[in-house]
Amino acid sequence: MVETSLNPFRIAQGQVRQACEALDLEPAVYEILKQPVRFLEVAIPVRMDDGSVRVFTGYRSQHNDAVGATKGGLRFHPKVTADEVRALSMWMTFKCAVLGLPFGGAKGGISCNPKELSEGELERLSRNYIHAISQLIGPEKDVPAPDVYTNPQIMAWMVDEFSRLREHNSFGLMTGKPLILGGSEGRGEATARGCVVTAAEAARRLGLELAGATVAVQGYGNAGSVAVRLIHQRGARVIAVSDSQGGIHRPEGIDPGILEEHKRRTASVRGLPGTREISNDELLTLPCDVLVPAALENQITGANAGRVKAKLVAEAANGPTTPEADEILHQKGVLVVPDILANAGGVTVSYFEWVQNLMSYYWTAEEVNQRLEQHMVKAFGAVWDLHREKNIKMRDAAFRVAVRRVADAMRVRGWLH
Ligand code: GLU
Repeated sequence: MVETSLNPFRIAQGQVRQACEALDLEPAVYEILKQPVRFLEVAIPVRMDDGSVRVFTGYRSQHNDAVGATKGGLRFHPKVTADEVRALSMWMTFKCAVLGLPFGGAKGGISCNPKELSEGELERLSRNYIHAISQLIGPEKDVPAPDVYTNPQIMAWMVDEFSRLREHNSFGLMTGKPLILGGSEGRGEATARGCVVTAAEAARRLGLELAGATVAVQGYGNAGSVAVRLIHQRGARVIAVSDSQGGIHRPEGIDPGILEEHKRRTASVRGLPGTREISNDELLTLPCDVLVPAALENQITGANAGRVKAKLVAEAANGPTTPEADEILHQKGVLVVPDILANAGGVTVSYFEWVQNLMSYYWTAEEVNQRLEQHMVKAFGAVWDLHREKNIKMRDAAFRVAVRRVADAMRVRGWLH
């Protein structure tokens, strides 16, 4: 069967429409939520090290701010497109709503390959992007954060640039900053930590403990690399890992410390002694208990979902499973903890970071992690209950919880009539 559409924006629209119909909401809800309220495309000139000027295309999409300032990461990747950023901003609205955070959704991105840029070029690109979108963002308006191929250093340059423009320090502008610039303890690990908490909650309900389970992790970035370590700490056996170069498999288990060191040295997980080389596609269909897609969209598709052998999929990435694959997994009895729940730990600790910035009072790692766990367990429970009560997919339940919250906010604000 051919997938109807792999366009993430169309996929996100379909998910929202389905939730609106199932909840029997006023037509205005879908009309408002089917696209971002504001979308900016910018051309960013950057002086390259060789003296030439290259112009990059960047985006910032603000989907909905009914419950609070818009929030969401910035992606630096060659495959970034306007529709991808639109979709990611929509998913942020519902991710924040599932967790009950006082944020709407946004996302930004620059179409570039950061691996080919020098540190100076990356800094100038980051600063010039902030210049280009500075009218749209601010601690009470729209708060960016890291995403694929962005990190605390990039956040620091951006906060610095914005603070210069505004002529005062504005640490609440971004989250995922270095600790010394108002970053939060636990933020770097938060996406993976939240994902592992939801995976453990799901596993327990399936009668499958994480301790002793076999796990495959696709992607070794901000989420995947930490997920490998945290899952291992819980006593699970990580049997396969991949990055953009390819994957490795070792049925006896991979040591996270040795893998981290190997990745640092060689810039890839490939070639780790004692492992067999596999493709990214092969990783997804390996025999294992838990599969953690932690890379990009559209990885589990109609073409491979039938061969997925995991009992549980915990989506650390955004949009890794296409709607067709979702249905196939559901029919096979594979439980999918959807992205807007499974990877919400990142934005949850971003919320904590923003709160700490507004208070200028900072929490310990223990406080952050404990509050994160409380938020994730509570959100998981609400989605699980609806999934059981209505006998629907976890993803459908998560969207219903989220869309209802946003619709309620829009209704009391008087946006629907
Ligand atoms: N980029 C992350 C996500 O997709 C984090 C967003 C944030 O912290 O604002 O959820």
